[in-house]
Amino acid sequence: MSAGYPGNEELVEDSGPVPAAQRDHRSQEEPGRRPVPAPAAVAAVERPIGPTGRPMIDIPEPEPVAHHGPARVVSMCNQKGGVGKTTTTINLGAALAEYGRKVLLVDFDPQGSLSVGLGMNPHTMDLSVYNLLMERDVTLDDVVVPSGIGNMDLLPSNIDLSAAEVQLVHEVAREQTLQRVLRPALAKYDVILIDCQPSLGLLTVNALTASDGVIVPLECEYFALRGVALLKTTIDKVCERLNPDLEIDGVLGTMYDGRTLHGREVMARLVEAWGDTVFHTVIRRTVKFSDSTVAGEPITSYASSSAGAVAYRELAKEVLARWRDE
Ligand code: ADP
Ligand code: MG
Repeated sequence: MSAGYPGNEELVEDSGPVPAAQRDHRSQEEPGRRPVPAPAAVAAVERPIGPTGRPMIDIPEPEPVAHHGPARVVSMCNQKGGVGKTTTTINLGAALAEYGRKVLLVDFDPQGSLSVGLGMNPHTMDLSVYNLLMERDVTLDDVVVPSGIGNMDLLPSNIDLSAAEVQLVHEVAREQTLQRVLRPALAKYDVILIDCQPSLGLLTVNALTASDGVIVPLECEYFALRGVALLKTTIDKVCERLNPDLEIDGVLGTMYDGRTLHGREVMARLVEAWGDTVFHTVIRRTVKFSDSTVAGEPITSYASSSAGAVAYRELAKEVLARWRDE
């Protein structure tokens, strides 16, 4: 019998989404019984397509933590400059701190933008990551400073760090230097985020060697994918030779503009190349980020309810969910 056979409607009632008018009619007929939407209808209603072109996922609210540590160490890495590494380090860190995580930010770029972005003066810094790397009698506690945000500390840097790149070459276990000096921090923090410099030199190799994971921010611009293959090769080499446990935690689309076809196309290519490694959360382009840098604080406190702040909180939730599932 065909489904359309007169009188046979009851037999096919659960075989697909039921038109709204028909559902209303049935619920009137059977008061108290909630109509059960078919699975396809649930997907259509609850999982809209996100900016990455994939159905959005449910990201759970992070569970509070009862005690701190051991820390997950994560490098923010892309040898291209201006892609949002420093912005992501500050704001993801601040959002994780809002969720009660104890966070240490490591400024590992001699330009010191992370330190400046948190209101520090690079010229009046007593001690920096450089001293911690190069001087045996300097301890982590000597160099760590409060970031001005609750739950979040900073290991600051300035131009001195550029000398370390040269001097480290002559050290024993030169690639493991950062890993060694960060070891005492692992028990105190939940997350350590390392803001890498825009190169794949020895400092970045040190950061990758010290890390459990890498987050790759990519500007949603045409040339964003150029050079990513080289970054992947570097990560693979570090994995093979120095740190077999290193994982790519995710690729983050930054400075996204969904209003332009160009923005959407670049995003589609990103997902094509990296698949589900791409975070569902994307960071849209907004001038609020430069404003907050000038103010010397994260966007989560400078403009707490702005779209940028909300996006970094979403990213914090997504990152915590990925780490929990790993
Ligand atoms: P990187 O550390 O990779 O060099 P930054 O985080 O310093 O990149 O960002 C480069 C510049 O772009 C900074 O001036 C920053 O304020 C700005 N910026 C970062 N993210 C965004 C965004 N989503 N929208 C607009 N401007 C941004
Ligand atoms: Mg930077």
